Amino acid sequence: MELDLLLMTPGPVTIDSDILLAGAQPLKHHRTNDFAPLYAECVERCKRIFKTRQHLFLTLSSGTGTMETAIANHFHPGEQVLTVETGAFGERFTEIAKAFRLEVVPLKYPWGHRAKVDDILKMLDQHPGIKGVTVTFNETSTGVHNDMAVIGKALKDRNVLLIVDGVSGIGALPFDMDGWNIDVAVCASQKGFLTPPGIGMIALSEKAFARMMKVECHGYYFDLKHYKKNQDMKIPSYPWTPAISVMFSLQKALEKMERIGMEKIYAHYHKLAEGLRQAMKAMGLSIFTQPDAQSNVLTVINSPEGIHPTAIVNEIRDQYGVLVAGGQGQITDSVFRITTIGSIGERDLISTVGLLELALTKLGYCKEPGEGTRALLKTFAAMRN
Ligand code: PLP
Repeated sequence: MELDLLLMTPGPVTIDSDILLAGAQPLKHHRTNDFAPLYAECVERCKRIFKTRQHLFLTLSSGTGTMETAIANHFHPGEQVLTVETGAFGERFTEIAKAFRLEVVPLKYPWGHRAKVDDILKMLDQHPGIKGVTVTFNETSTGVHNDMAVIGKALKDRNVLLIVDGVSGIGALPFDMDGWNIDVAVCASQKGFLTPPGIGMIALSEKAFARMMKVECHGYYFDLKHYKKNQDMKIPSYPWTPAISVMFSLQKALEKMERIGMEKIYAHYHKLAEGLRQAMKAMGLSIFTQPDAQSNVLTVINSPEGIHPTAIVNEIRDQYGVLVAGGQGQITDSVFRITTIGSIGERDLISTVGLLELALTKLGYCKEPGEGTRALLKTFAAMRN
C-alpha cells in the first residue's frame, strides 16, 4: 500500500484538500478588479489573526523573506539592533541584520530556554543606541515559546522597534500585535496559516510604518513603499506578479480558520501538544525544552541514548508514511521534533505516537509498545470537551 505521507513536521504542515484544491482554480489577473477583492480579503483576515488594525502587506516569499523585509525597511547600515537568540531562527535574524551591515548586539540563551525580559531591558540600558529588538515568538528549532506579551509591554516606552518573527507561531498560538505593542510582525503561509508555502505576511505598527517611509530601503523587490503605493491604487493590488494560486488557498484557509474560531484552534493545538507531552513522559522520553518554555506548536524530544534521531525519523517515514522532523543546528544529532499544528487531529497524533512506539521497539528502546499511546488516550479522554 502506498499512503500519502502524513506531515507531522512544523511546516509545511498537513493541509486540508479543499484548501489545496482552491489553488487549482483559474487565475485572476492581478491588474484587474477580479483580483483586488481576493487580495483585500486576505489582508483584512490576516490582520484579524495578527490582531492588528494597523498596516499589513503580503509578499511573495517564505518566512525568511519577510524577516529580511523587516530589516531592510527599518534600519540604516551601521545602526544597532539587539537580536534575541533562543535558537536557530533567532540566529537567522542576527545573520540577516549582519548581511544588511547593521551593528548587531546578540543576546544569546542556552538552547531550550526562553528569553527573559529583564535581560532585554538590561541590554537596552547598556546600549542606549539600540534602534530595534528582534525576538522569535515560537522558536521552531528548540520548541521555545517566548512570552511576547510580557516583552512587548515592557518595551512600550522604550525608543526601539520590536520586531517579532512569528513564522511558526502566528495562527497557531494566541497573538495580539496591537495589544502587546509589537511594531513589526512577520509570518508565512505554510505553518499556522494552513496553506502551501509561497506567501509571506508583514504587519507594521504606525511607528514602524513611519520609520519605513523615512528609511531608504536596501533592496528593491522587498521595498515596502512599492507595496504601500500599490495597495492604495484605485484597483488595490500588489506591486509585482503575486502567488495568485497560493492566495486562493490562503483565502480558503483564512475563511475556514475564522469560521472555526481562533480560540478553538488554539485550544485544539494545546490539547494535541499536552497529549504528546504526556505520551513522551509515559515512554520515558525527555523533552528538550525547559518546562516553562514548552510550545504547543511542536515538541522537541531527546533521542534515547545510543539511537540517532535520523534512525527514528527514517524508520517512521519509510515503514509507516509519517514524517517527523530531525533536529537543527547544535542539536541535530540529539533530538527529533513532532508538530501538533496543521490540519491534524487526535487521529493523526494517536497514529504518530503508536508508530513511534513501534519504531522505538524495533530500534531496541521500547520493550513493549503501548505505554505512550495509553497515556495519550487518557489525556485526550480527560481533556474532552
Ligand atoms: N522563523 C521561524 C520561527 C521558522 O520556523 C522558520 C521556518 O521554519 C523560519 C523563520 C524561516 O521560514 P522559511 O523557511 O519559510 O523561510
